[in-house]
Amino acid sequence: MIYKHRTKPRLLSGLLALEKRLSPTHEKYDYIKSELYKIRAGYGGEQEYDRYMKEVRTDYPHAILHDLSLQHEGVHFQIDSLFITPDTIIISEVKNIADKIFIKANPTQFMKQLPDGSRLLFRSPIAEVERKIQFLEQWLASRNIVVTVKGLIVFAYNNEMFIEEKPSMKVITAYEAPTYFRSLTPQNESLESRDIAEIAKTLARGHTEYNPFPITARYKIGERDIRGGVFCSECEIPTIMRWSELRWYCSVCGVREIGSHQSAVIDWFMLMSSPLTNRKFCEFTGITSRHTAKRMLARSDIQKQGKGRGSRYTSLT
Ligand SMILES: [Zn+2]
Repeated sequence: MIYKHRTKPRLLSGLLALEKRLSPTHEKYDYIKSELYKIRAGYGGEQEYDRYMKEVRTDYPHAILHDLSLQHEGVHFQIDSLFITPDTIIISEVKNIADKIFIKANPTQFMKQLPDGSRLLFRSPIAEVERKIQFLEQWLASRNIVVTVKGLIVFAYNNEMFIEEKPSMKVITAYEAPTYFRSLTPQNESLESRDIAEIAKTLARGHTEYNPFPITARYKIGERDIRGGVFCSECEIPTIMRWSELRWYCSVCGVREIGSHQSAVIDWFMLMSSPLTNRKFCEFTGITSRHTAKRMLARSDIQKQGKGRGSRYTSLT
């Protein structure tokens, strides 16, 4: 049973908003593009794994939790996917690499083969998972839960893998996951079905969504470099709409909508650290009437603080 599903990472939503609102000539534009590519690819790989995990059927009771962010003594750690069996907790680290993979042991080396045939070393995911195992063991111990924790490296796509020497941790592709979990034979069945459910619920309750906002502060980008405007949701190329005759109007596709500014408000709270005021909202959306702006803000899913000209708005989430 799946106790926690994966949702679109906030960082991905924030980066998409940033890419749309940053000039391609900005000094950090290419870097933001590469960050966006990396985060999107990571999420894509995880979704691929989740699709295979839906097919997992086992003879023993189990629990699955996707994308867990836990905190222990002020340190955050993120687990791509977690699987509980009657005798072990297995944490999976999902890697999204399209190339052929070569793995060697002693010392552990992960290499990918580039299209030109050359091999490139990449950081061993085993070390990363070992660190997460330690964190999780401590997290569980502080809640009086004693279970063995193991790691699993998963390549999201059906990579050609050449394991020259067996590494210290199991490495599979997402495609092999249902067979892998089915083949496990829990030896020391210390956890019963209800214990597994209890641990899964404790872990799900411990999840704290990682907050990467405001994105401009995270990537050290000036707020004045952020392009304002209400974007058309129909047009593929970012197109700015204008407010006319009580509707947002797109002069490219001709769409007329009433609530298009809502996504601009969401963008503001993901990107900016300064509070949203009526004046800032007008500047950001191109609305010229503060009364219209006030009505729009009153109907938005945000919280108002203060009165009159001093009011500011904060995000509800
Ligand atoms: Zn349009």
